[in-house]
Amino acid sequence: MLKVVKFGGSSMADAKQFQKIKSIIDADPARTVVVVSAAGKRFKDDHKVTDLLYLCYAHLQYGVNCDGIFEMISNRYLEIRNELGLKTDLESEFAVLRKKLDSGISQDELVSRGEYFAAKLMADYLGFDFVDSKDWMRFKYDGNVDQAVSYEALNKLADGKKVVMPGFYGAMPDGRIKTFSRGGSDITGALAAAALNADVYENWTDVSGILMADPRIVDNPKPIERVTYNELRELSYIGAQVLHEMTIFPVREKHIPVNIRNTNEPDHPGTLICEEFDDTQESRPGFITGIAGKKNYSIITVEKSGMSGEVGAFRQILEIFEAHNVCVEYAPNGIDSLSLVVSTEKISPCLYSVIGELQKSLKPDNIKVTENIAIVAAVGRKMAFRAGVSGQIFAKLGENGINIRMISQGPDELNIIVGVDGKDFAKTIGVLYNSFVN
Ligand code: ASP
Repeated sequence: MLKVVKFGGSSMADAKQFQKIKSIIDADPARTVVVVSAAGKRFKDDHKVTDLLYLCYAHLQYGVNCDGIFEMISNRYLEIRNELGLKTDLESEFAVLRKKLDSGISQDELVSRGEYFAAKLMADYLGFDFVDSKDWMRFKYDGNVDQAVSYEALNKLADGKKVVMPGFYGAMPDGRIKTFSRGGSDITGALAAAALNADVYENWTDVSGILMADPRIVDNPKPIERVTYNELRELSYIGAQVLHEMTIFPVREKHIPVNIRNTNEPDHPGTLICEEFDDTQESRPGFITGIAGKKNYSIITVEKSGMSGEVGAFRQILEIFEAHNVCVEYAPNGIDSLSLVVSTEKISPCLYSVIGELQKSLKPDNIKVTENIAIVAAVGRKMAFRAGVSGQIFAKLGENGINIRMISQGPDELNIIVGVDGKDFAKTIGVLYNSFVN
């Protein structure tokens, strides 16, 4: 049994958190491959080391002295080392890095150091080998990970060993350090799990699993016990902040389940993410797995009598949006109308050009623009082929005075999506949660 375990920034924030990680590792001998983030926030208004590193780089760019920030960064790690009584020689490493700042360092290399120092300390503390991710995580020149080369390299370095590796970065073919986008340590962990054919990828964070709704909107939402990869994709697409969106691909390819756990509540089973589940064994009776949503959409409705019989009309409309690089998120249609749901931010700069081009090429009877729309999705694999689910949802929203402006449901019946007025956003999520989850 092999478990690849990744600890996020809040789990790495200080010596106390390091101690919790050690107990988690000691509790299960299968937890032999550890991936870590840079030290995160210790309290609400604290700084993440990675943010400080980006700030440090900005100072260098503008020729402003960065000694103060550099000291804040080094002190974070020196404090952890000293409190845990470790021997890692951070002083010489910091001295070398400080010199590099003056002689020229890339942004990617500088910001990757948060993970590097964190992993060095954690390896020392756990008594595991340190494996530098630049020695196995290999990017291609197009910016994508070279999975075959990376997997082979990691197998050579880590197979059968107990190791700690930094997340977030790897190297280009010429050896230059390259990072993923923010939050990318999740991907490092997923790629390590896939490379080593792990039995499970544990992602340790500061919540007991993925929550069924946004805790800023719903009081104390329940964590999701089990979610499929497909449901998770729907939930994160529509706004749920879960894992870095690229995390799922490598583990899904190898059928490796992902378990989201809480470092501060290690006995809680968290959320399990798999391809599919035997739902007869699940304790939760409802049909909703999670509720998510996003604000600030616009709906552009094109009306033209006879449009549904006009070959190529939809294509013509979509091509105009494509030419302006605006992604059409949903496109519900009536007999003689098509509505395009798009992000307001994306359409605003080109709205009048788009309308002009639609007018010219389609000669519609009418074009209507509705702004300030919010999209809310109820996601759940158990909705599929169950009669009456959408009826129940629409009835509840109606009873609560919420006017539905748009409805969309895919044929896979994994979600029911409604467009509502922006002002009804939180209320819609609240009504769905309280009616169908609580
Ligand atoms: N430390 C990086 C960040 O803050 C990567 C990570 O934590 O996943 O974005």
